[in-house]
Amino acid sequence: MADIVNDILRRRREHIAPGLSVLYSDDPIHVVRAAGQYLYDDSGAAYLDCMNNVPHVGHCHPRVADAVARQFATLNTNSRLLYDQLAEYAERLCALVPDPLEVCYFVNSGSEANELALRLMRAATGRRGVVALSGAYHGNTTSLVDISPYKFDGRGGQGRPRHVQVAPAPDAYRGPHRDEGAVESYTQEVDDALRRGERDGFAAGAFISEALMGTAGQIHPPEGYLPGAYARARDHGALVIADEVQVGFGRVGQEFWAFRAMGATPDILTLGKPIGNSYPLGAVITTREIAAEFDNGMEYFNTFGGSPVACAAGLAVLDVLRDEELPEHAEKVGDHLLSRLRELGETHEAIGDVRGLGLFIGVEIVADRATRTPASDVARHIVTRLRAERILISTDGPDDNVLKIKPPLAFDADDADRLADAIHRALIAME
Ligand code: PMP
Repeated sequence: MADIVNDILRRRREHIAPGLSVLYSDDPIHVVRAAGQYLYDDSGAAYLDCMNNVPHVGHCHPRVADAVARQFATLNTNSRLLYDQLAEYAERLCALVPDPLEVCYFVNSGSEANELALRLMRAATGRRGVVALSGAYHGNTTSLVDISPYKFDGRGGQGRPRHVQVAPAPDAYRGPHRDEGAVESYTQEVDDALRRGERDGFAAGAFISEALMGTAGQIHPPEGYLPGAYARARDHGALVIADEVQVGFGRVGQEFWAFRAMGATPDILTLGKPIGNSYPLGAVITTREIAAEFDNGMEYFNTFGGSPVACAAGLAVLDVLRDEELPEHAEKVGDHLLSRLRELGETHEAIGDVRGLGLFIGVEIVADRATRTPASDVARHIVTRLRAERILISTDGPDDNVLKIKPPLAFDADDADRLADAIHRALIAME
């Protein structure tokens, strides 16, 4: 390992809290700059980034960088003062969401957005209970680890808190329900979870989910699941929260929102990561009624949320998405990549399932197609081989055997071919 890499690792070990992992720990990459869909190391080598969805419109996009720099040199203050950008950004965001979502709160991260969503839920329903999906992650605060099975059922987790009920992720490939009746069975599971909560004295104030699930293993639910699950939640007096921190904002294509692509509309929508293109920016968008319930005299104030610089970042991202037609691009390139990966599935037994929408794609790696036995070692091997070809990709899912593909939207058809060819080579090398 190069001296500089060893030196940074040593200094991190000394003063950075333990438990923070380093990607490719056997051979970490010393990144020094980034542009578009590429990260560059200290020798100038370019790595194709297939894992970072936060630099949504491309790493260090010049229009976003310029907008932030100009605004930061002109005015940055808090939202109790009057400036143009806050109202403009709220108007433009609300123009992108379906009715009855029309009231915005601005925060600094996905966790802050989900945390606020829980407060809105409590204010509007008077309930503390939550139904979440297995394998889900919703953020790093105390309350959010409590509703994130990915964390409380994972390493170091303390188990499920009593006010939370878990319904199985609607995974038609590996989950408990795989046949034609899967939609009905998975929505019934949501209903069962809502009933368990009521029986335990913690009626759910909300059903929270990602319309397509990330940490649970790039799950693409069967058609009809989301409207069904939302209807069950509402039948029990619960609100519906859509966490679009990963999957929202054009990644899935022209539908723009994963919840819309899945055919349902939430009561509370939470946003983060991509909306600021790596500038820390998050948002909650809800209905006028829910916002009115929350407005009980206690002000919601967030020092940095919706600052002029944050809004400048957000507005520039919206401009780029529109001008570069990135949702359309994500759909086209995603379709191409999905078909290339499905073709690979015809030659490689290890590819158990290829799923996704737009540039949110998962490839399930298995030891045996008939038993669907997860092969995390093969998935890890692919990640390592791709690293050697300077392609960055990650794995996730409960068995850590799902290749997770969610690149910046600058990723194009040639990149898709390069990625598919590299996965093909990695699998040949294994066989
Ligand atoms: N929700 C989802 C679905 C996420 O993937 C994440 C981050 N991985 C969060 C919420 C939390 O966002 P942040 O890390 O910005 O607080």
